[in-house]
Amino acid sequence: MAKINVVKSVFEANDAAAGENRRRMEQAGVLGVNITSAPGSGKTLLLEKTIPALGRELRSAVIVGDLQTTRDAERLGGLAVEVVQINTEGGCHLSAGQVSEALNGLVMKDLSFLFIENVGNMVCPAGFDLGEHVRVAMLSVPEGDDKVAKYNTLFQPADVILLNKIDLTDVLGYDTSRVRDDLSRINTRAPLIELSAKTGRGMDEWINWLRTRRSQQNA
Ligand code: MG
Repeated sequence: MAKINVVKSVFEANDAAAGENRRRMEQAGVLGVNITSAPGSGKTLLLEKTIPALGRELRSAVIVGDLQTTRDAERLGGLAVEVVQINTEGGCHLSAGQVSEALNGLVMKDLSFLFIENVGNMVCPAGFDLGEHVRVAMLSVPEGDDKVAKYNTLFQPADVILLNKIDLTDVLGYDTSRVRDDLSRINTRAPLIELSAKTGRGMDEWINWLRTRRSQQNA
């Protein structure tokens, strides 16, 4: 019984901090975007291509979670207004408390988007609300076309699902219809956007989706 209470209180504390993060971003007119995926599916490259594509009038900051290193923050440093790297030192997801601390050091005035690149992991980040307004779940072609069904908890809470590295479908014999079929049972609310951050294919649809969500928030 005691064990159940401990687990419950971790989620309650996280949810309280997440609610506060959401309010702080809303007050500043900032859309919080939590990006979840496996390691190596292309979260950092997606952001490297997304931030400039949003245009100069829509400014972005990034919070990057990794177990170790500042490599992703260095890649994004020239593109975002501000980048905060959080090293979780073994932790397999970001928490709302960590995002809250990062927000303390960010100037949110004049920002439009706060992208949160979560720790690359298809299990742990799923249950932790960071205070984002939209949850992105990404998968990429080299991971295989069975991942939506296997890691359903990552895809269930997503507001949009990105299928990255679409330029590799033919060479790897990837069956996109399998992903669509699995999503029809797991999440019919979120659109599936097929794209390649590397070649730029499909990026317009993703950028338009982000712009629409931001304008709905500030309507
Ligand atoms: Mg990364």
